[in-house]
Amino acid sequence: MKENEKYNELISFIQQKGFIWGPEPEIYGGLAGFYTYAPLGKLLKNNVENEIRKLYTKNGFWEVECPTVMQKEVWEASGHLGGFTDPVITCSKCKSNFRADNMLSEIFPEINFDHKTEEELLHYVSKIKCPNCNGPFINQIKRHTLMMKTTIGLDTEAYNRPETATTTYLPFLRYADFFRKKLPFAVFQIGKAYRNEISPRQHVLRCREFTQAEAQIFLFREQKENFESYMEVAHEELPLWPWQLQEKNEHSKKIRVHEALDKGYFKNKAYAWAVALAYSFFKKIGIPEEKIRLRQHYPDEKAFYADDAWDIEINLNTFGWFEVCGVHDRTDYDLTQHSKKSGKKLITFNENSPNQEKSEVPHIIEIAFGTDRPTFALLDLFYQKLDEKEGKTKFKIPPHMAPVKVAVFPLVKKDGLSEEAEKIFKEIEKEFTARYDVSGSIGKRYLREDESGTPYCITIDYDTLKDSTVTIRERDTEQQKRIKKEQIRHYLRELIHGRMSWDDLN
Ligand SMILES: [Zn+2]
Repeated sequence: MKENEKYNELISFIQQKGFIWGPEPEIYGGLAGFYTYAPLGKLLKNNVENEIRKLYTKNGFWEVECPTVMQKEVWEASGHLGGFTDPVITCSKCKSNFRADNMLSEIFPEINFDHKTEEELLHYVSKIKCPNCNGPFINQIKRHTLMMKTTIGLDTEAYNRPETATTTYLPFLRYADFFRKKLPFAVFQIGKAYRNEISPRQHVLRCREFTQAEAQIFLFREQKENFESYMEVAHEELPLWPWQLQEKNEHSKKIRVHEALDKGYFKNKAYAWAVALAYSFFKKIGIPEEKIRLRQHYPDEKAFYADDAWDIEINLNTFGWFEVCGVHDRTDYDLTQHSKKSGKKLITFNENSPNQEKSEVPHIIEIAFGTDRPTFALLDLFYQKLDEKEGKTKFKIPPHMAPVKVAVFPLVKKDGLSEEAEKIFKEIEKEFTARYDVSGSIGKRYLREDESGTPYCITIDYDTLKDSTVTIRERDTEQQKRIKKEQIRHYLRELIHGRMSWDDLN
C-alpha cells in the first residue's frame, strides 16, 4: 500500500486540533470505523447538516425522523438481507480478509472496479499480494453481508438500518394523507445508519456508523416529464461526466441542464432537477467548482431497478476523486416490494392513471448525501500547512461554514481590559458561535484560532477604553483594522455572509 503522507498529516491535524477523534473508544484500543466528533468537528458537521436542511426545506421537502432499527421482514423486502454484500478476498498465508474492490482501486487507481464481475475482480486479485505478509490471495471471492444484526425483546430478529432511505419509504400512506394525496411530495431524513464494513480504513469517509441525509421525491411516472421546478435549473451548467466520456477516457464537461436532457444524459426533468439541486449544495458549502464533478453510472453498474444514477464526486487532496452523493431514480421498485411483503397496498389516487381504479404506485427519485463525507471534504480541501519547521497550520474554511465564527480577546487581563472584553463577548455570543480566550500571548491566541478556522478575532486594548474602538483581525490576510465596538455585530454579519469583503471594510 502506498504511504499517503498527505492523509497522515491531515488526520493528525484533525485529531490534535479537536475536530474528529478515533477510531473510538481510543482507551480500549479503538474499533475501526467508529469516530467521535470532537467540539470543533461537531460544530462543523452541524453547519453541513444545517445547510442541507435549509436547502431541502427551501425546496419544499419536509423533514421526518424514523427508527434506526427494524425487523427482518423490512430488510428482506428491501433486498438488503439477500444482496447487500461486499466482495471479500482472503490471504492464503496469514488469512487476513480485505474488501476486494477497495483494495484494487487503491492499487489500480485508474480502473473503476464498481462494475466489474467477480471473474474480472479475480483476474486483478491474482496480480496483487497481501499488504500484511506479502502472501498470495486465495482465488475466490466471498460475499460478506453489511447488515448489523441485533435482537429486539426476547427473540425478534432485527437489523440496524444500512441507510435512512428504506425507513423513510415505509410511512407512505401516512404521507399521502398528510400531503392531501397531492403528488409530487418530498421528504427527507437526517440520521444514523450502520454498515458492517470489512476493515474500513478511510477515516470517516467509510464508517461503520455514519450519518445520512437522504431525500425522496414521490411522484407519478408522467410527472417526471411535467415537473414545474425544472425551469429554475434548465439553464444552469453542470460539470457532467457521462459514462460515454468515461469510456473514452475524456474529462467531465460543463453542460447546461436542458442540453443534457436533449442529449439523453438525463432521462427526465424531475431527475435533472434533483441532480442540479444536489450539486448546488456542494457549491453552497464552499467546495470550489473545479473540485466537483458529476459521474454517471455505467449501465451495468447501477442497481437493476434504477432508471438513472449519477454520483457527485469531490477531488480530495488525500484520496483524489471521491463519491459524496448519489442521485437515483428508483422507479416504483421500493413501494412495490414493500406492498408485496407487508400486504398493504402502497398506492394513491392519480386522476391521469390509465387503469380503472385510478390509483398507482408512485415512483421515487432519491438524493442521498452522507454528512460525514462533506465534513471530511471541507477539512481536506481547506486545511493548509504553512510552516514546515514550526508546524504552523491554518484551516481556511469559508467563513459561513467555520465552526467558531469569532474569537474575542483582551490584550492583557489587567487594567479593566478583561472586564470590557467579557462585556463585548457576551454581546457577540448572542448572535455568533464565539470563543473567549485570555490565556497566552496574543500571537499564540491568533495561531490557535487560525488552526480552528475562526475567520475573525476581536481584540480589546487600551485604546478601546479611550475611544470605544476594537481591533478586528482577518484569518487569511492576518491584517488588522479598527472598528467601533457598536458596529462589531453588523460588520461580522456582512463579512460572514459574504455581503462585504474584507477589503471593503473601512
Ligand atoms: Zn497475508
